[in-house]
Amino acid sequence: MTWVRRGLRVTGWALGMLVLLVVGLVTFCLTTTYTPGDPQRGYLALTGGTVLAGEELRPLPGATVLVKDGRIVDVGTGVAVPAGAERIDVRGRTVLPGLVDLHVHLTSPELDRGEQVGPARIPGLILDDVRGFPDARRAFLRHGVTAVRSLGDEHARVMELRRQLRENEIEGPRLFTSGPLFSTPGGHPVATIGVAPTSGTVRLPATPDEARRMVADLAASKVDLIKVVQERGTPRRALQPIAPPVLAAVVGEAHRHGLPVTAHWGTPDDLREALAAGVDGLEHVEPRGADDGWPPEALATMVARRIPLTPTLAVTAAALPEETHRTLRQRTKEFHDAGGRVVLGTDAGMPGVPFGASVHRELALLVDAGLTPGEALRAATSEAAKVLRTTELGSVEKGRAADLLVVKGDPLADVRAASRPSLVLHDGREVWKDS
Ligand SMILES: [Zn+2]
Repeated sequence: MTWVRRGLRVTGWALGMLVLLVVGLVTFCLTTTYTPGDPQRGYLALTGGTVLAGEELRPLPGATVLVKDGRIVDVGTGVAVPAGAERIDVRGRTVLPGLVDLHVHLTSPELDRGEQVGPARIPGLILDDVRGFPDARRAFLRHGVTAVRSLGDEHARVMELRRQLRENEIEGPRLFTSGPLFSTPGGHPVATIGVAPTSGTVRLPATPDEARRMVADLAASKVDLIKVVQERGTPRRALQPIAPPVLAAVVGEAHRHGLPVTAHWGTPDDLREALAAGVDGLEHVEPRGADDGWPPEALATMVARRIPLTPTLAVTAAALPEETHRTLRQRTKEFHDAGGRVVLGTDAGMPGVPFGASVHRELALLVDAGLTPGEALRAATSEAAKVLRTTELGSVEKGRAADLLVVKGDPLADVRAASRPSLVLHDGREVWKDS
């Protein structure tokens, strides 16, 4: 019966290899998940730097930021540092609030422009998902991005990520999310990039009643907002926008639950319909919407209603020729000059738009579009926090979370100074230090 023994030997060998593989994978996942360090406890003082204080980012030279248990408890030039406080000398540096990216797709694989997901990348992507996207989380924090808003991710996955982040099981930026996005079977992203209609990334209501039910379900799952895609495409490639009664039902039901609605829009007609439905925010400035300038009435409505616009110049800059992009920056400037509210979002997770780094690309593009560096930084801090409807973030002031960025140079003079932080604090704990 040697074949039985041989069979057992082979099975034993295969089992041994399997156990080794599983142990190896589990060890890899556990050691590379990127978990938080100890919470910041007691007093911590950042001393001697120029602090960009309050929602206006008012420069206070030689000021101290006093932090206790992860929160800012005092800011100013005459702040007494309690005995025993941990001190960090930031003389010659600038302290500003952590940055916010209002438009990300956190669960998307990071791709270069034109890159496809080949079979060779699939095991890596699965491991990335299992570990909760540690590279993306780390990339945000080391670029000073301490909060992000996901606008279209797989619902169950992104809600679980938000829970893990809130409960400090994993390290990363604060996460706000719409969960899935509302669209149509013939619309974006189903007909454009092949997202399955049954996927948890989209909701495709056919009737106002169905729309209300879907919004109510999302509200019950505690999403932070609702995202809609109102997009009819181009004459060459028409897409199916949401029927106005369905769109009105989505917005009405969201408001009934106290949730704001932001809309991806494409053409001027999409913009008019989104505004008529009563949306609270707008995503993107696209060539098909902006080539002929702003429709005057729509522009007036956006300004009068203080509707924030996230131009997402980083994603269009990655995808379009410079000639075309110049027009988009011009439209952004016109909106801003008319008194419109510009806020910062990148569409990170789309090809060519890296997590974290793209926030600095967006800041530079906003300045290029005519915002001052201070206005661009407010678009990424205090203005972004207002859009998130939180008074916890976006400003170096008493009572807010100690999400702080320490940079060399003066970002109010040159916004690029913010792009390489020497220190990043998240709830007062060090999450990045440039050695
Ligand atoms: Zn997007």
